[in-house]
Amino acid sequence: MKSKKNNKKKKENSNQNKIKKQKIKKNKILIFYEGVEEHKINIVSNITNSLLQWFGIPAEVIVKGKIWKNLYGLEEIYKNLVRIRVIRWNEFKLHEYVSPAEISFERKKAEGKIKGWGILYDGFLLQSIMLSALLGQKLVKKIDLENIPLVITDRQIATFGEDGRYHLRIAILGYPSLISEKGFFSAPAKPKEYHISKMISEDIAIVKGYSLQEEIENKFPLLARPYIILSLLWTKYGIGFCQNEKCFFSDSHTTESLLKSKSGKINLCNYHKEEISKIKERID
Ligand SMILES: [Zn+2]
Repeated sequence: MKSKKNNKKKKENSNQNKIKKQKIKKNKILIFYEGVEEHKINIVSNITNSLLQWFGIPAEVIVKGKIWKNLYGLEEIYKNLVRIRVIRWNEFKLHEYVSPAEISFERKKAEGKIKGWGILYDGFLLQSIMLSALLGQKLVKKIDLENIPLVITDRQIATFGEDGRYHLRIAILGYPSLISEKGFFSAPAKPKEYHISKMISEDIAIVKGYSLQEEIENKFPLLARPYIILSLLWTKYGIGFCQNEKCFFSDSHTTESLLKSKSGKINLCNYHKEEISKIKERID
């Protein structure tokens, strides 16, 4: 009789363990990249993992490697990459004519032979092309909300706003999310003194712009953390950016607020604080 009871207890314990295990199953953020150095990606991944732990968010970042791996049969994707290039700031239009030279540029870029600077891509359309690239090369098998893909790219991305103009962006959240390494410098508005120095002398502006660019490039791993975490928060829980510029998860519109909120002491607004504690309650 006693042993029956013990067995029952054991069974209950093992069931409880099973439930516990299921509950603490970690989500994965899968990083794919292009045109960004591997060691930078590894640093970004390591420090984001420490931060996820610190926040108590049940997720981990895994570096999956370059996005262009199985290059056979990607002609249609190269062609589409040319079609979504932004030509005019105030016009949302796809290229009708795609030249062989442009396709060859995209092929070379995928092969890692050239960098992507100087060309601007429509961010939302790039997102869907990246999804086709991931699925087409079998780097992800299906849409899976426990394994969320993220592409870190050296391409410049922009989205067409309600004001009828394209705006440069640091990141686009979705499936996959995109983070533009170049966007950290180019997208947010520069400090006033940068513009004043530009009015006084181009030379000073170049020096000031250069040192600012260098600072942002050096801090890239720190600055990228909130965008990587948001790629999970948005896709899985519908938690996006906020407009509180002091918050770590804010959509920074100026270089100053970008550097302060994302590389300094971490502050969370009430909305993000509450949402993150709700995620923690789900697993506790
Ligand atoms: Zn916030």
